[in-house]
Amino acid sequence: MTQSEQIYHLILIGPPGSGKSTIAEHLLPHLPLAIVATGAGLRNEVASNSDIGQAVQQRLAQGQLVPDDIINQLIRQWLREVQPDQGFLLDGYPRSLEQAHMLDQILADLQRPLHGVIALELSQEMIIERLTGRRICEVDGDRQTLHISDAQAVQRCQERGGRLVQRPDDQPHVVKKRMHVYAQETQPLLDHYAQRGLLRQVSAADTPEHIVQRILDVLG
Ligand code: AMP
Repeated sequence: MTQSEQIYHLILIGPPGSGKSTIAEHLLPHLPLAIVATGAGLRNEVASNSDIGQAVQQRLAQGQLVPDDIINQLIRQWLREVQPDQGFLLDGYPRSLEQAHMLDQILADLQRPLHGVIALELSQEMIIERLTGRRICEVDGDRQTLHISDAQAVQRCQERGGRLVQRPDDQPHVVKKRMHVYAQETQPLLDHYAQRGLLRQVSAADTPEHIVQRILDVLG
């Protein structure tokens, strides 16, 4: 079986702004994967004004973690929907040891063993620069992410009559909070997966294409 047919069950970990979602998308042409992204999934819940969306809206806007019972329930549901001929890549989950233990249970129930945990690494300065400059270009319900330093992307957005919006949790004071939450909650996780021999560390200070290549290399 070639690598492009291999079914992987993966976790992608990285500080906010390390480009997790972009990297996940760039992996799709290479591996049969379903991306299970908790941040995006939760923002969809908020956008559709579902019961869960209403329950989590305020925490999301303040950069606080959503209660474990809610997120675990959603993860179980999303993973159950992954087709048998596809692997999955979890983006944004688990974020704590408690969630990692719950994930073990969910994966045991689904008979889907974990193959690897990819940890993206990025300096604090780069995290702050990337996140506080990030904007969403909104045009008629379409949403695309760009960086304000990318003059061409900003111009393209303006030409389309788009509106540049900052995610509430990309404001500088919330970014600092998110980095603090990340360091506190995630370091024990990295230690946990390193002990289990599943951790694969990859620098995120590069283009998505190069990062993806390094990930494919470490998966072997
Ligand atoms: P992200 O897009 O991954 O930065 O996530 C955005 C927000 O969604 C976070 O600041 C949390 O409020 C919430 N969130 C995402 N994943 C989780 C998780 N695994 N546990 C709790 N809250 C989460």
